Amino acid sequence: MIYKRSSALFAEAEKVIPGGVNSPVRAFKGVGGTPIFVKEAKGAYLYDEDENRLVDYINSWGPMILGHAYEPVVNAVVEKAKKGTSFGMPTEIETQIAQLAVSMVPNIDKIRFVNSGTEACMSAVRLARGFTGKDKIIKFAGCYHGHSDSFLIQAGSGASTFGTPNSPGVTKGTAKDTLLARYNDVDNVSELIEANKNEIACIIIEPVAGNMGCIPPKSGFLQALRDLCDANNILLVFDEVMTGFRLAKGGCQELFHVKADIVCFGKVIGGGLPVGAFAAGNEIMNHLAPIGPVYQAGTLSGNPLAMAAGLAMLTELNNNPEVFKRLEEKTAYLHEGIAKVLNENKITHTINRVGSMISVHFDEAKVVDFDTAAKGNNDVFKAFFHGMLDAGVYIAPSAFETWFITDALSYEDLDFTIAAVNKVAKSL
Ligand SMILES: *Cc1c(COP(=O)(O)O)cnc(C)c1O
Repeated sequence: MIYKRSSALFAEAEKVIPGGVNSPVRAFKGVGGTPIFVKEAKGAYLYDEDENRLVDYINSWGPMILGHAYEPVVNAVVEKAKKGTSFGMPTEIETQIAQLAVSMVPNIDKIRFVNSGTEACMSAVRLARGFTGKDKIIKFAGCYHGHSDSFLIQAGSGASTFGTPNSPGVTKGTAKDTLLARYNDVDNVSELIEANKNEIACIIIEPVAGNMGCIPPKSGFLQALRDLCDANNILLVFDEVMTGFRLAKGGCQELFHVKADIVCFGKVIGGGLPVGAFAAGNEIMNHLAPIGPVYQAGTLSGNPLAMAAGLAMLTELNNNPEVFKRLEEKTAYLHEGIAKVLNENKITHTINRVGSMISVHFDEAKVVDFDTAAKGNNDVFKAFFHGMLDAGVYIAPSAFETWFITDALSYEDLDFTIAAVNKVAKSL
C-alpha cells in the first residue's frame, strides 16, 4: 500500500508536535515506519489519507466497541452540540448516565465522571489514600493505569514499547510509595503486604491485563487479592478502563464474581469522546469533595457532549446484552482461525484471549505476566505488523497491545483477516 500523503502529513506534524503525535503509542517507534493518518472511519473500517481501507483492530484503543461513527452515538452528540457544548453547571444527562452505569455495574452506589482513564485512576488512588489514611499502593508490573506519576513504574503498553519503565520527571518520593508486584503471583503480593504492614492504601489492578498484550488472571488470583485486602484493611481497585462495558455489562466484577472497592472506567464509557469515571459504594464515595475531604474537580467533567455519547453507548449495551455474547463468538472465531493458520505455517506463537480482548505473542511459552510477555520475538512482531498492514488490516503498532474487537466486524471481515494472517505467516 502507498502512504504518500500520510508520510507528508507526519513530516509536517513532527515540526510542531513532539514526535508528530499526541500520544506515544500512535507513533510507529516499536515497529518502524511512519504512522497512518486517518481521514474517516465507518463501522469496522478506517479510511486513511491515501484512500486505503483498513480493517480496524484498535478501534480507538477500545471505545468503538460497536464500530466507528455508530449512528445513535453520533446523533446524540450532534443534537446536544446544537444546545451548547459546555456550561460548568449541572445538567440532567449527568444523572441519567450515572443512574444507568450504577444499574449496570455491581457493588457501586455513586460514580464521578472525569475526562480520561488517567484521571479516573489517579483520582481513585487519591480517594483510596484519603479513605484509608495510608500512603503506599501496590501495582503490577506491566499494568497501565494512565500516565500520572504514581503509575509510571513498569507501566506496560507505550511505556514498555519505548523501554522507559520509569519516566524521568517522576520523583523518587512518588516512586517509593508505589510497590511493584508480579501479575498472577499472590505470594509476591502477600510478601509486599507483610513488609509494609499498615502502610498500604490500595492494590490497583487491571483485572484482565490488556497493556502487556492480553493476560487473563489465573483462576482464584482476583479472589486471593480480595481476601488479602479484607485481612489487611486495604482497598481493592479494579482498573476497568479497558475491560469495563467490554467483557460484560458489569465488567470483571460480574465476570469473575469478585467485589472491588473502587472501579475505574474510561474508553467504552465515553463512546469515543473523552470520558473517564470512578465509582464505589456510598461510604467511600462520600469521602469526595464537596461532601468529603478528598479533593477532585474538573472544568469539563460531565461535559454534555461527552455525556451524550456515553449515555447513547451505555444505553445500546444495556438494551442489547447479546452484544457481549456476539463479540465473544466473533473473537473466538478469529482466535481459532489465526491459531490454525499459524500452526499450519509452523510459526511459534501463544494466543491469549478473554472475551473480545485477544493478543498474539510470538513465543511458545505461556504468557502470564510482564516478564513472559516481554520475551516475545519483536522482530517477528514487526514483520507481522507490516505484513498485516500491507494486507489491509490494522493492528496496534506494538507487541504489548491487545487487539480490540468491534461488533461491526462481519464474519467476512474475520475471514479476510485470517487469510491475511495466512499470507503474512508464509513470509515470516
Ligand atoms: C487506556 C487505559 C488507561 C488510561 O486511560 P486514558 O484515557 O488513556 O488516560 C488506564 N487504565 C487502563 C487499564 C487503560 O487501558
